[in-house]
Amino acid sequence: MTNILELQNLSKHYHSNDHQLTVLNNISFGIEEGETCSIVGPSGSGKTTLLGLCAGLDSASTGKVWLNRMCLNDMSEDERAAVRGEHVGFIFQNFQLLPTLTALENVMVPMELRKEQNIRSRAMELLERVGLEDRFSHYPTQLSGGEQQRIALARAFSNTPRILFADEPTGNLDEATGEKVENLLFELNKEQGTTLVLVTHDLELAKKTQRIIRIKGGELVSDEKSVNVNY
Ligand code: ADP
Repeated sequence: MTNILELQNLSKHYHSNDHQLTVLNNISFGIEEGETCSIVGPSGSGKTTLLGLCAGLDSASTGKVWLNRMCLNDMSEDERAAVRGEHVGFIFQNFQLLPTLTALENVMVPMELRKEQNIRSRAMELLERVGLEDRFSHYPTQLSGGEQQRIALARAFSNTPRILFADEPTGNLDEATGEKVENLLFELNKEQGTTLVLVTHDLELAKKTQRIIRIKGGELVSDEKSVNVNY
């Protein structure tokens, strides 16, 4: 298998009392290494659930997920966490920064885990890159949502991820900050070859990715090459 992400007949059901809710129904697609892809669709269509399954944060009811050529289905939570630690980046609304660490320390975490050199100065460079070097000693609660998003991106850069999953990366940001975050995402793709998988409401952002996957009511309704890629 050459794809960095491969989904096969993926479904997700939730059960409450005697009722079964199907949130995702029989989704299959593959994403090549280095590809940029958006998942779009109406609110409640299952996008965030799908991203969580792809990233190994949640498990499917039926079907299979391969991430980095490893099948996540048969793994324990610890094993899935190890796959996520191996060059998989996240920018999720509820899965952001470690609250007890400063901005700088958050960016340092992936490099520390890999016992790399010159961690502090390299983390400072990454903070400069996202324009937040003056916030290095701030804790996440002392930062705005947009600033936290940019710190999460700096951390993603420090992890040199082979694949990055981002849930509404420009949502809730003002236009200028949204543009900055967007540029950084594409720089990560260009400079490090990171595969991007974005969930977004922003069709202008989606059109800048190479591929757009639409889901509606938990079903994949289209999977097309974007005609508007501008890089
Ligand atoms: P989207 O990201 O497209 O807005 P979501 O993936 O967040 O959609 O949600 C899809 C559907 O799954 C929604 O109807 C939501 O209420 C339902 N859902 C999500 N998580 C749960 C859960 N833990 N238990 C029950 N239903 C859930």
